[in-house]
Amino acid sequence: MAAMLTCYACGEEYDQRERARCACGEPLWFEMDDANLEWETLPDAPGLWRYKSVLPIDPPTDASREGGDVSTVSGDPSRTALPPVGIASGAGGTPLFRTPMLDEVAGCTTYLKDEGQNPTGSFKDRGSAVGVTAAAERGRPVGTVSHGNMAMSMAAHAASADITCVVLVPADISETRLQLISQYNPLVIRVDGNYGRLYERSLELGPELGISFVNSDSPLRVAGQATTTLEILDEFAPAVPDALVMPVSSGGHASSAWKALRDLEAAGVLSSLPTLHFVQAASSAPIAAAFADDENTVSPIKGGGTIAYSIGNGDPPSGNRALAAARDTGGRVVAVTDDEIRAATAELAARAGACVEPASATTLAGTWNLVDDGVINADDDVVLVATGTGFKEDVGQPDSPESPTVPLKELEATLKRRID
Ligand SMILES: *Cc1c(COP(=O)(O)O)cnc(C)c1O
Ligand SMILES: [Zn+2]
Repeated sequence: MAAMLTCYACGEEYDQRERARCACGEPLWFEMDDANLEWETLPDAPGLWRYKSVLPIDPPTDASREGGDVSTVSGDPSRTALPPVGIASGAGGTPLFRTPMLDEVAGCTTYLKDEGQNPTGSFKDRGSAVGVTAAAERGRPVGTVSHGNMAMSMAAHAASADITCVVLVPADISETRLQLISQYNPLVIRVDGNYGRLYERSLELGPELGISFVNSDSPLRVAGQATTTLEILDEFAPAVPDALVMPVSSGGHASSAWKALRDLEAAGVLSSLPTLHFVQAASSAPIAAAFADDENTVSPIKGGGTIAYSIGNGDPPSGNRALAAARDTGGRVVAVTDDEIRAATAELAARAGACVEPASATTLAGTWNLVDDGVINADDDVVLVATGTGFKEDVGQPDSPESPTVPLKELEATLKRRID
């Protein structure tokens, strides 16, 4: 496959797979010159490998067994020769489903893309599958700057691919998070200092030390994460949803959604273009602020705390690109409060049976905002991209006053009274 890195902003091309930034300062992404995105001819490969024609690498192979690419039989991509290799095979391929009980509360026709069903519970596994597989092919260690879902995901994929993973976390990381990450046995290093600066520092240190840093907007990660959007559009085809609503932090996932739409548009398989709306938490919303102020660049802010900890980012490395993605597709970037996020989390569980983390619940809270402003209409098909599972945390809901304790001998009578 021929993969080139290109810059969305100035169009510059680079023939270097390791580069993360354009000379103009903006992030790069992979451009494939042999992309095939006809729905009918995509292989029936596991998870995100269905879209391998737009990925800059092939699926992982089992070095201990003969036969090269063991995930598919050449010439007949629908048949699997041997079981797929490692958790990279389990990344992606998540369900998209209609959520009719949410329509009334959301104010439109709703669908949920359940990224919580990835191997470590978030869409980060898509980017890790691609980034770690690429590093493993070259026998290189990987690294990441994260203390949340990305750290867990990278550590798990590296364990599965049998390569070293360096995770740089802030010195004051919570014990719970440290345990979630450490179970996969990565090299965790607590860094005392400006954690925000570490992202750029890791981009310098990576090439110097031979560590592939697969950070939130690295080209390999963005390539993998574009498959969230490819799957949604694949599932809808030949119809097209009116809008996708996604939480945004670094802007990596948002950028990848835009890239996927551009590729699908170029392939001529979309009858219309969905709108991309992004949601931030109000206390940490520099992209929403730039959108509201009609700016073309995002100015870093000192963000406050939010219950949506996965998206608390005052200085998003792909902020400008996310902003461009929203504008180009006719979408918006909105901010929602923690109270709205709490309410949305509760509605998603009670009406859709979806246990999502607060960052993901911003999609419903943001939809409320967009419906109020008349941007989303009642008959619009809207996909809420539920980026991560809520099973990693305390639910935090007060005990329901509706759950009585009854003596066993009164159970039958109670049930008769309560169930009509
Ligand atoms: C990482 C993450 C996000 C934000 O994605 P970016 O690519 O950083 O914008 C949103 N939700 C969850 C659950 C995440 O883990
Ligand atoms: Zn550029």
